[in-house]
Amino acid sequence: MDKISAMKPSNTSVLLIYTGGTIGMFENPETGALENFDFEQLQKQVPELQKFPISIDSYQFNPPIDSSDMNPDAWRKIVKVVSDNYDRYTGFVVLHGTDTMAYTASALSFMLEDLGKPVILTGSQLPIGVLRTDGKENLITSIEIAAACHPDGRPMVPEVCVLFENHLMRGNRTTKLNAENFNAFRSYNYPHLAEIGIHIKYDFMQIHREKTPLRLHPHYLLDTNVAILKLFPGIQENVVDAILSIPGLKAVVLETYGSGNAPLSEWFLSRLRRATQEGMVIVNVTQCSAGSVEMERYETGYYLQQVGVVSGYDTTTESAVTKLMFLLGHNYAPEEVRRLMQKPIAGEITL
Ligand code: ASP
Repeated sequence: MDKISAMKPSNTSVLLIYTGGTIGMFENPETGALENFDFEQLQKQVPELQKFPISIDSYQFNPPIDSSDMNPDAWRKIVKVVSDNYDRYTGFVVLHGTDTMAYTASALSFMLEDLGKPVILTGSQLPIGVLRTDGKENLITSIEIAAACHPDGRPMVPEVCVLFENHLMRGNRTTKLNAENFNAFRSYNYPHLAEIGIHIKYDFMQIHREKTPLRLHPHYLLDTNVAILKLFPGIQENVVDAILSIPGLKAVVLETYGSGNAPLSEWFLSRLRRATQEGMVIVNVTQCSAGSVEMERYETGYYLQQVGVVSGYDTTTESAVTKLMFLLGHNYAPEEVRRLMQKPIAGEITL
């Protein structure tokens, strides 16, 4: 059973949503394997939490999950917990495994429409019980940011973010790039929202802000009839055909080369044309970590446009996949999904 438990009362309060991941694991002394542990044990490992002059409550996934098992149901659960507790807390911290954190951060950024409070995702590369852990620092800094407000009471960062090591990043711009270093995440196409050093330096030019606070609109409908097709030299017609013929498939993230380029072969272009004419949404996302799709730049990209493929601009694959699930969940017609994929709806692309 999932549960909420409270630590200390005050005006400022943060809800920690503990989903699982390395941050909440300990090494079983008998087997040496990493196992999940309870949030109460986590508090014992981080006595510093008691020093916060704010109230910190927790909501725990029971059982906690490795983020390889994250899925739309778990995203809905996080959205529900945030929405149900929205008025009671200054901000939210989601403890999450690193492997799929960028997908969850992207999904939440779409599902929590008109968010006006911080939702900070963090995790760690080493379990919190290990002496050299990066988890304590990530957890403590995330709580500080989730609780941070301007003098007039407005939250500092009313966005879904990923906090890792010394950067605060817009969640739907992040990608996990390192399975070893503590500095595991990057936001290649959008500046950091804050730099973490002796001070936490916020970049208010980059942080999203509504002139007048809006009311949160939580969304729960997602349609997972989406696939990723990554191009490589030598890709066979039967591979492309097999993916585009999946029954019920509604959208494909096409991972292309460089600034959005793909083969000029007749079989390839005509197969894509047939799919788009039949209503499939195909979004062009570059395989490069940084930079944007520019389909008008080379002939190879231009022909993709001609067969109905739309640009994902500088979106990450994680953001494109979850945005498609979100838009398809609204039952929009393919033309409308194509239009909205080319427009930022939560700061996920730069035009
Ligand atoms: N496998 C773990 C997870 O993503 C890795 C981590 O937390 O860093 O849940």
